[in-house]
Amino acid sequence: MDEQKNIPRVVLVGLASCFGCQINITNVEAHLMEVLGQVDMRYWQLTSSEPMPDAFDVAVVEGAVTTEDAAETLRRVREKARAVITIGACAATAGIPGMAAAAYEGRAAQVYGSAVPAIIDDIACRPRPVSDVIAVDYEVPCCPIDPYDFVRVLQKALYGANPYERTSTLCGECKRNERGCFYGRGIMCLGLVTRQGCGARCPDLGRPCNGCGGVSVDANVEGARRVAQRSGIDPARFDKALEMFNQVPREVQR
Ligand code: SF4
Ligand code: SF4
Ligand code: SF4
Repeated sequence: MDEQKNIPRVVLVGLASCFGCQINITNVEAHLMEVLGQVDMRYWQLTSSEPMPDAFDVAVVEGAVTTEDAAETLRRVREKARAVITIGACAATAGIPGMAAAAYEGRAAQVYGSAVPAIIDDIACRPRPVSDVIAVDYEVPCCPIDPYDFVRVLQKALYGANPYERTSTLCGECKRNERGCFYGRGIMCLGLVTRQGCGARCPDLGRPCNGCGGVSVDANVEGARRVAQRSGIDPARFDKALEMFNQVPREVQR
C-alpha cells in the first residue's frame, strides 16, 4: 500500500504465454480506467521495459511456469504480495504451454542430439501451473480471460474479499442459457467436465466447450466418457480433446 496515498500498488507479470490475456484486459477501456483509478499500477510487463519493482501489494500473473527463472520470479512475487491473482488457462492449468508436459522428457535430446547444452537443464523445467509453485489467492480462468471477470476479481483482491471457488461443471450454466446439448446431435462438448464460471459462453455462441476453464473438481470424467460413447464418440477422442488445456494432472492445478 502506498502509505501516503493509501492506494494499493499492483504489478502485472507475464510468464510463458501468448500475452493474449493481458491484451484482452485492454478491451474494457471504460471499466479499466475506473479500476486503474483505484490502483497504483507499478509494473505492467506488456507495456514496460523497466524491471519489476521491489514493493507492491497485489500481483497479477499470466502464463505457465516453464523455467526455473520464472519459478524464482513467482517466489519473489509471493514474498511481496498480499494477494496473487492468476489470469488465463496458461497460469491456472499450464494451458497451451502445458501441452509440452507429456513429451517433456527427452525433448532437448530430440533437438540437440547427444550434445544437449548444460544451460538447457539449468533454465528449462516441465510446464506447470502457477499454483504448483506458489499459493494463489484468486483466479480468472479461461483462454483468453473474460476482461469483465478480471475487473470483478481484481476488485475483490483490492478489497480483500473472500475468493469464490467455482467447482460445478459448465452444464448448469449452459442449461440456464436454455440451449440444447451438443450430445443430442452427436457432437462432443467438454462442458460435461469443465469448471463453470464463463457463463457457458461457447455453447451459447453455438460452439462446443473445449475445456479452457480447467477440469472441475466435481467432474465425473468416467461418466462423461460414457456419455460421449453413447453419443457415438470414441472416449479416446474425448480424452485427447481434454488434453489441450489439462495436460497437467488436476491435483497439480489449483
Ligand atoms: S490463457 Fe490463452 S490467451 Fe491467455 S495467455 Fe494463455 S494462451 Fe494466451
Ligand atoms: S455438455 Fe456442453 S452443450 Fe451439453 S449441457 Fe454441458 S455445456 Fe451444454
Ligand atoms: S465454454 Fe468452455 S471453452 Fe468456452 S470459455 Fe467457457 S470454459 Fe472455455
